[in-house]
Amino acid sequence: MDTDSNDVTAPVSLDAYLGKLSGDLSKRTPCKLPFWDAAKPISEADVLLLSCIDYRYSHAIHELMRKHFGLRYDQVSLAGAGLSAVIDFGTDLKPHWQQTVLEHVALSIQLHGIKTVLIMDHRNCGAYSKFAGLPARDYDHEKPDQARENDKKEYKSHKKHVVRLASILEKRFDDLEVTGILLSRFPKHPTGSEPIVFDFLYGDLK
Ligand SMILES: [Zn+2]
Repeated sequence: MDTDSNDVTAPVSLDAYLGKLSGDLSKRTPCKLPFWDAAKPISEADVLLLSCIDYRYSHAIHELMRKHFGLRYDQVSLAGAGLSAVIDFGTDLKPHWQQTVLEHVALSIQLHGIKTVLIMDHRNCGAYSKFAGLPARDYDHEKPDQARENDKKEYKSHKKHVVRLASILEKRFDDLEVTGILLSRFPKHPTGSEPIVFDFLYGDLK
């Protein structure tokens, strides 16, 4: 598992990735909680999507998730996605955020037998600025050098938090796969031809 490099990876199309992930997951068996012995979940979903609350991404993400997973996905949205369950909020402690994520993953396994958690972070995230000290991006005025530096800093911070959350989830839920990605800056014209791309942060489901 690639967890030690902080270099930005080659961007991948979210559309293509979700298509492949959906195909891969259809061959896997659902997770089971050790303390839950019912033979079959009430209904089935392949993936629990953990995404940020950010309005700039939600609708485009839903469109692609529906295209590739149909109805077969659960979703939890919390500010910062991967950050939400592991951030050191300093004096403003939020242990209930982590509890919320863990309990919803457990429920998603119990009720729908998901096979993986997909942590979907995004660049220029307000929660990462507010809680993890990343600078708010100003794409229109950043110089190329500064933009590259900010890209790297962003990637490193997202990777650190997503890897930490993935390790908590994988320790807690034996046969759960976790995959983490960092969406690019949202295109200025969502209806244009510019696709959403991302960098991998964590996991074997590439
Ligand atoms: Zn965000």
